Amino acid sequence: MAEEKFDAIVVGAGLAGTASAIAMARKGLQVLVVEKGKTPGSKNVTGGRMYSHALAKLIPSFWEEAPIERWVTKEVITMISGDDALDVQFDAPSMAGERVSFNVLRAKFDPWFAQQAEKAGALVACDTRVDAIWVENGKVKGIVTGTDKFAADCVVLSEGANTLLAEKAGMKGPPNPETLAVGVKEVIALPQETINERFGLKDDEGSAHVIMGSFTRGVEGGGFLYTNKDSVSFGLVIPLAAGIHGKQNVYDLIEDLRTHPHMQKLLKGGEVREYSAHMVPERGWQAVPESLVRDGAVLAGDAAGLVLNTGLTFRGMDLAIESGRLAGEAIVEAKAAGDFGAEQLRSYERAMDDSFVMKDLKKFKNASAVIGNPRMFTTYPEMVMDILHQLYDIRGEQQRPSKVVERTVRKHVKLTTLAKDAMMGRRGM
Ligand SMILES: Cc1cc2nc3c(=O)[nH]c(=O)nc-3n(C[C@H](O)[C@H](O)[C@H](O)COP(=O)(O)OP(=O)(O)OC[C@H]3O[C@@H](n4cnc5c(N)ncnc54)[C@H](O)[C@@H]3O)c2cc1C
Repeated sequence: MAEEKFDAIVVGAGLAGTASAIAMARKGLQVLVVEKGKTPGSKNVTGGRMYSHALAKLIPSFWEEAPIERWVTKEVITMISGDDALDVQFDAPSMAGERVSFNVLRAKFDPWFAQQAEKAGALVACDTRVDAIWVENGKVKGIVTGTDKFAADCVVLSEGANTLLAEKAGMKGPPNPETLAVGVKEVIALPQETINERFGLKDDEGSAHVIMGSFTRGVEGGGFLYTNKDSVSFGLVIPLAAGIHGKQNVYDLIEDLRTHPHMQKLLKGGEVREYSAHMVPERGWQAVPESLVRDGAVLAGDAAGLVLNTGLTFRGMDLAIESGRLAGEAIVEAKAAGDFGAEQLRSYERAMDDSFVMKDLKKFKNASAVIGNPRMFTTYPEMVMDILHQLYDIRGEQQRPSKVVERTVRKHVKLTTLAKDAMMGRRGM
């Protein structure tokens, strides 16, 4: 039996759900957020770098109180082949002052973010799983949790990558292993001074690392490392299909990466404090459902497939926050119009089309073909290391760099293949 009717019920106190709750509660809507974790963030896994812009639209001076680990001032791309490694490093201390992006631990960040929703007037109920979406006569009427039903004019489905409820509500098709990836992450404790020294950072400066190469044993995927205050978040992401088809076990791959001599220089002596695994909708534009709305419900964040991996950057958190805010604003408009039907809620889809979220997903819609090219993980790292060995391993007469490059490229890859990959790269990036 329905006990109380809310203007909106939000499923999941992740980034998308909480952002929508803040937007709605601030405009006086009665909002209930239902979260299955004991606390917000307790079930959430992220690599660890959030771009600030979407959060700043919602909470302009968020840095004054948000639990930020470090401001990213250093970007590192690491290529690994065998025992060899090449770091390309971009050091930009000014990015700290400009507050472009920061490293974050969700177990700390999400409770703070949920408090902002509570301060705005939303009710956040943790340790409560939504078991089903309550649908009557083709309209979403609320949620079902245990034996209770809670009624709402609109439900925000922001349950993350595991879209059981959205599928049941007919807003998403069944999970497709080809569009999903699995990420594993370790939080490794290291003293603050050790992190500063090893990574070349000052106290509030942080680094963000993407790692690619032979450690994935030919599987498309990559590693990441983000520096926190007194720990590092370290892990990797590979396609779910690679695990399912028995190609590789993600746990073996992370072990290989952690014990690689180059990574050991950064991680040695660290103590694994947490271990977690989670799915990621990784195919960008291809993973976004045709519609984000139906009568009485909207989809936001990972539940809508809003993650963008370009190989250089990995973004889901800013997309989740922006989509949550825009979903919340559309529901506020629907409340003013007294109409929560799909046609009215399409203002959310229009706002999304105009936002950086859909623009970026569309712009990089071919990126997955580039980062899914197996040569990126085997042939090219091997070729680069071979070139560098020949350039720097001088034991007498020195070779001309142009000749080394030409000869070694031909040794590793056919020129027609190289041209094809370059074309694909141009289209994807
Ligand atoms: C390994 C890994 C690394 C990543 N690295 C980055 C990165 O560095 N930068 C970046 O921007 N993005 C990164 N991402 C992606 C990013 O974490 C997600 O895009 C983002 O968390 C999505 O937010 P969300 O609110 O949509 O979902 P989530 O954060 O997953 O929140 C969903 C919430 O819903 C709750 N929930 C689910 N089902 C129910 C239910 N039935 N009842 C009640 N509650 C429910 C969950 O407990 C959870 O709290 C990474 C992801 C992974 C897995």
